[in-house]
Amino acid sequence: MADIRLSSISKSFGGPAVVNNVDLEIGSGEFLVILGPSGCGKSTLLRLIAGLEEVTSGTVEIDGRVMNRVDPGRRGCAMVFQNYALYPHMSVAGNIGYGLRVEGVKRAERSARVTEIARLLELEALLDRKPAQLSGGQRQRVAMARAMIRNPSVFLFDEPLSNLDAKLRASMRIEIKRLHRQLGTTSVFVTHDQLEAMTMADRMVVMNGGRIEQLGTPQEIYRRPATAFVAGFIGTPA
Ligand code: ADP
Ligand code: MG
Repeated sequence: MADIRLSSISKSFGGPAVVNNVDLEIGSGEFLVILGPSGCGKSTLLRLIAGLEEVTSGTVEIDGRVMNRVDPGRRGCAMVFQNYALYPHMSVAGNIGYGLRVEGVKRAERSARVTEIARLLELEALLDRKPAQLSGGQRQRVAMARAMIRNPSVFLFDEPLSNLDAKLRASMRIEIKRLHRQLGTTSVFVTHDQLEAMTMADRMVVMNGGRIEQLGTPQEIYRRPATAFVAGFIGTPA
């Protein structure tokens, strides 16, 4: 578990800031959703937390530690993407355990840990399969297992469900929330889907043009949108 504090963070790739002076505190064990239209800076914000991009200004703190100059591998964050590229030649077990293998964890310990995570994600029966033999939802669960294996203190989800069909998306929402509750890991979940945000968030942020328009519980934001943008964006069916 970890709390995250972003203090006046900005990011520019040479042009205007794509993340613009964002202040945000995320509580330990919270499930925070970042909602906004395509191009508003959601992925960049996640990548700044993960350390995959460096902030242009401001500070990123995780668990009270300033992370600005800390390598992505040492921030305790695991990222789950929409294009969960699994290694096609490796089994499910191989894919899940890959991160530990790279760290030099011994085979027996690795195997015990893979079994434990597979049980949690109901993948036990699939450990010997190759990714091509899995459904979309199963592949997504393998990607989550792979992210979980290193015991991250923060999960960063970048639109992980947007390639799935509607039915599977609905069940994966429930699955992700169940895991979140079970593990107590701080989670930041990015989506452009209003319904997804409203149903999953403890609190949510509505982003527009690199800025935070509003922060609150789904109910607060739905009942009292702070800006015309929020009212329009929340009011539009997904
Ligand atoms: P979102 O995830 O909300 O769709 P992004 O964070 O991906 O938005 O992108 C926000 C803006 O930053 C976009 O205008 C995008 O083109 C720009 N951007 C993102 N990454 C880079 C990059 N590496 N170099 C230049 N511009 C980028
Ligand atoms: Mg994005």
